[in-house]
Amino acid sequence: MKMSDQISEIFGTHVFSRSVMRERLPKKVYAEVVSVMDHGGNISMATADIVANAMKDWAVEKGATHYTHWFQPLTGVTAEKHDSFITPPQDSTTLLQLTGKQLIMGEPDASSFPSGGLRSTHYARGYTAWDMTSPAFVKEMSCGTILCIPTIFVSYNGEALDKKTPLLRSMEAVSTQAMRILRLFGNTEASKVLAYVGPEQEYFLVDREKYLKRRDLIYTGRTLFGAPAPKGQELEDQYFGVIRERVGAFMSDLNQELWKLGIPATTQHNEVAPAQHELAPIYTMCNLAVDQNQLTMETMKRVATRHGLVCLLHEKPYAGVNGSGKHNNWSIGTDVGENLLDPGDTPNENMQFLLVLACIMKAVDEHADLLRCSASCVGNEHRLGAQEAPPAIISIFLGDQLDDVVNQIVSNADSIKLLASHNLDFGVSTVPVIKKDATDRNRTSPFAFTGNKFEFRMVGSSDSIADANVTLNAIVAEAFSQAADILEKADDFNAACTQLIHDWMSEHQRIVFNGNGYSDEWVEEAARRGLPNLPSMVDAVPALTTDKAEALFTQFGIYTKSELESRAEIMYETYAKVLKIEAQTMIHMAGKHYIPAAIHFNTRLGQSITSISSAAVGADLSVQKDLLVKCSALLSSASKALEELKVLLPEVDAMEDVAEMAHAYHDRLVPAMAALRRPVDELELLVDKDIWPVPTYGDLMFEV
Ligand code: ADP
Ligand code: MG
Repeated sequence: MKMSDQISEIFGTHVFSRSVMRERLPKKVYAEVVSVMDHGGNISMATADIVANAMKDWAVEKGATHYTHWFQPLTGVTAEKHDSFITPPQDSTTLLQLTGKQLIMGEPDASSFPSGGLRSTHYARGYTAWDMTSPAFVKEMSCGTILCIPTIFVSYNGEALDKKTPLLRSMEAVSTQAMRILRLFGNTEASKVLAYVGPEQEYFLVDREKYLKRRDLIYTGRTLFGAPAPKGQELEDQYFGVIRERVGAFMSDLNQELWKLGIPATTQHNEVAPAQHELAPIYTMCNLAVDQNQLTMETMKRVATRHGLVCLLHEKPYAGVNGSGKHNNWSIGTDVGENLLDPGDTPNENMQFLLVLACIMKAVDEHADLLRCSASCVGNEHRLGAQEAPPAIISIFLGDQLDDVVNQIVSNADSIKLLASHNLDFGVSTVPVIKKDATDRNRTSPFAFTGNKFEFRMVGSSDSIADANVTLNAIVAEAFSQAADILEKADDFNAACTQLIHDWMSEHQRIVFNGNGYSDEWVEEAARRGLPNLPSMVDAVPALTTDKAEALFTQFGIYTKSELESRAEIMYETYAKVLKIEAQTMIHMAGKHYIPAAIHFNTRLGQSITSISSAAVGADLSVQKDLLVKCSALLSSASKALEELKVLLPEVDAMEDVAEMAHAYHDRLVPAMAALRRPVDELELLVDKDIWPVPTYGDLMFEV
């Protein structure tokens, strides 16, 4: 079968989609379900029973034996606990059953998920509740085929213990406030506004056999040691290069698995670093995109194993080559298909677009700290602020044309003109002349306008994209709400709107930056502009609990104060825990692998010096001796650094206050870890390859 036929045949076959429901549910029930999916509300238990039964029948036909409430706790990954459909036979004539009650609600014994103090152990109950906006699906795993019911996860008191609940709340907020703006422009057609997201996912592949020889990859997802390979990414021959056979087989298999799950994976290519790749799906509604991205990451890992590979989603598996991120392409559009970020051919005359743009500039400028925080995860520490990924300073890239429009508005130009867009003439008569894009690319910008969407490029590759989108939806909702408050009262709407656009663009123009975000000049310039520069996650966490953040999130009911505090606490805790695991892994590897290997090498060297000098008196042994001196010195530095780390770790780990502890890990442990890595990496370049205990960067990156 041709691949193109295959797509249409398998796409969405594992999803309990609207079309499946239309086929399988009585008309009235289907209408009720769709109405709740689109407009909210409750469904009756009788309806839930019918849906549950149809869902179970469908899943059983697909081979499912179990179901699970599938949710996204604050660990940032997904959770599931499988329950079988089997019921005691005496109760029921059917052996396999899923009731409406089981569909709608669950109570996982989930007291060990992080709750950041939201749930003390004596109030340990947590509930999962069916999220009807996201379709159920079946997942084929080695433990069987499972019906997955997407749910939210809340505490006994209704506080959100997951990433999904605030996301759904934020989508409602942005919809309500955007609708106020649309109504002001006379739009009577649309009934809601949806946030759309297309996340581009980067990842590395590594040979599984080699992976299993590296404790750091196994325990932490990244290499904690490793000298650079003779070749890195300097030739850029990997980027968009021809895809290798084994990787190609993986990608093809992955696409099919994703298509079955209704995930429209479209683009695939090699990325900049050796063994680095990217996958992009077609954008969809924000909440679905979050679910689908989780499923994509999970499927990548599972499929890789089938090909003798391991998929590394860590932000920085290898030092010295590019890390992985996620470009979160975000836009908002109405339910009748109007994209509010589409500038049209004449953005200079498009007042609604300019108002939306002014609101986004205001939102991003006022809440730059929160956006930075939303993209913080421990692995991302190695990217943000380093010279490869967006800097830790938030700014907006608009491109020449829009930048010029904003400049004219700010300087009160009489009429706003549009920079002419040019044709690209290739100077080759057989290649057609094409129109140049109105916006060029700026790879260094963390928040770039790319035609009809903003691309938030800070998110880490392993992270959930939920937090970033909660923040984007919330901050833009706030700006819309403030604009609507002013404009709804205006006597002359056009005049008031023109004035508001001018005022906000002027006030917040400092957030626009079109230059090189990696340069040192930008760091200085940003400081002059008063933009926050939060180089580390531990510096970014306090953004969650400022009065400004509390006012933002509570006004729309997205987070309560205690929900915000819990998230801050979890971030500190996670930071400390991950660093602890990394430090312990380094201690293990240095003590059990590297130092013994170096001692072995030195001993062999020493013995050979002795035996050669007795066999050939006067032989020139300067090379061996020199090597022995160098290795012994590095060995003693490594051993000293190891001892220091061993002393420091329990000291830092005993701290009571989580914020203090996270800072201590950052300020004291990270440098101590670097001090251990340095001599070990140098030893790697001197010690015989047959003695070196683990695969090297060259083995890992170039033998995939
Ligand atoms: P680019 O070339 O600008 O990176 P692509 O066409 O490769 O854009 O798309 C990158 C991602 O952005 C894809 O997932 C795509 O579906 C998504 N995308 C495209 N348009 C929009 C939009 N209006 N809103 C959100 N995401 C979008
Ligand atoms: Mg992109």
